[in-house]
Amino acid sequence: MPTILKYPQGDKRSVVVKYNKKICLLGDEGVGKSSLIKRFVFDQFDEIYQRTIGTKISKKDLMIQGKDGKPVQLFLMVWDIIGHKSSKKVPATYYAGVEGILVVFDLTRPETFADLDYWVNSIMVDKNYSPVVAMLGNKSDLEGQRKVTDEQIMTTATKLNAKYFLTSARTGQNVEEAFTYMGKELVLRHSGPGWSWI
Ligand code: GDP
Ligand code: MG
Repeated sequence: MPTILKYPQGDKRSVVVKYNKKICLLGDEGVGKSSLIKRFVFDQFDEIYQRTIGTKISKKDLMIQGKDGKPVQLFLMVWDIIGHKSSKKVPATYYAGVEGILVVFDLTRPETFADLDYWVNSIMVDKNYSPVVAMLGNKSDLEGQRKVTDEQIMTTATKLNAKYFLTSARTGQNVEEAFTYMGKELVLRHSGPGWSWI
């Protein structure tokens, strides 16, 4: 449920609806999940590969236009995965309450693309809700090394019912766009009947 804040009478904004939403990044180790979050939240990029240990939650505050054009303040809680090369098992707490997933592959490593199905299905299993899914083909800056075709990408995106973004955490290409898309979708899902402005 949203928190509804009232501003003093006469204030044109009068009401701001605030949502907290949990999203997570999924995908094989080394595809750039932590780097994408870092780019989005802090506008930074590290060349050095730091293996993620444990679960890290970053927060980002977004203003999104609701269906009626009024602003919605969205607090995105972005969960970063624990990286274990040998295991794809992710604890249930990681998935609990997730409303959106950004599933990431590395354009230069086809095996990470082949695993997308696994990642998306791992979160869909036994769930009675369907999260918004965005699929990110990352490391677009490594142009000469690209090994996944547009056709393959589009086929998988359709199958996973995901919107596709060609991204680079290094240059920042489409990173903001992918997260903002997610934010907008999450807000729009809640602007149907029963969702009202006072
Ligand atoms: P994670 O295991 O999915 O969290 O992957 P990381 O974010 O730790 O990134 C793994 C490695 O890929 C690091 O060395 C990053 O610097 C590098 N990397 C991440 N994103 C990009 C990108 O868009 N372009 C390039 N060239 N390297 C990237
Ligand atoms: Mg990581």
